[in-house]
Amino acid sequence: MARVAVVTGGTRGIGHAVSVALKEAGYRVAANYAGNDEAAEKFKAETGIPVFKWSVADFDACAEGIKRVEAEVGPVDVLVNNAGITRDGMFHKMTREQWDAVIGTNLNGLFNMTRPVWEGMRDRKFGRIINISSINGQKGQMGQVNYSASKAGDLGFTKALAQEGAFKGITVNAICPGYIGTEMVRAIDPAVLEKNILPYIPVGRLGEPEEIARIVVFLASEDAGFITGSTISANGGQYMV
Ligand code: NDP
Repeated sequence: MARVAVVTGGTRGIGHAVSVALKEAGYRVAANYAGNDEAAEKFKAETGIPVFKWSVADFDACAEGIKRVEAEVGPVDVLVNNAGITRDGMFHKMTREQWDAVIGTNLNGLFNMTRPVWEGMRDRKFGRIINISSINGQKGQMGQVNYSASKAGDLGFTKALAQEGAFKGITVNAICPGYIGTEMVRAIDPAVLEKNILPYIPVGRLGEPEEIARIVVFLASEDAGFITGSTISANGGQYMV
């Protein structure tokens, strides 16, 4: 029986590419999303991948959502924690709401989503948790104290949980993308992109969502069983650690 993969924020951007790549690799995929029904319905019609709406920031909704996925698709073998948001602003103007929203989705979301699948993975002695962090969690980014803190937190989560999962056949890894050509990044003023962003990317271009998706497919595979607690940077050489 094909393995089951859940992709949070799996209907748009990087998550869209990850859902499609996992399906093409033979997984039974469930794509979660938060609120954009139109994008989700279009995604479902185009890919045939079932979509499930709940917020990863809501602990109880995640437990319920995972129950639905397990009933309709099957026990979860692979979880891709991809859903993420930004609420940018300089720290001296950052509001409590901006802070809470970003931590709630980008960091608490990992706990909320991983907790309900973890015990099943331990029982079945196989699991793959793949967390989409960010270059800005590695290096910090002005105007994104909330986002950088949440994404750095994702890396600590990854390393600690990897130690707990290792002897149960569960790997936990993180990917840190640099600038990827999703809707969000393509919406940046082309002049700003040309002058302030592209010159700092040694390969001279944005990344493609599919380039992140292929890393996810590898990390999910049997071949990646010896990789755990790792952070894979995919940023065109913009930040080397
Ligand atoms: P997009 O904004 O294109 O897509 C975000 C997806 O996440 C959407 O499907 C959205 O659902 C979903 N989502 C947002 N909040 C929630 C929530 N609370 N619960 C469930 N789903 C939610 O983002 P990207 O594809 O650009 O980014 C994907 C991940 O990659 C994020 O974690 C981001 O931080 C990270 N990243 C992105 C980079 C980039 O350059 N694009 C660079 C580095 C990291 P809906 O459609 O319903 O709104």
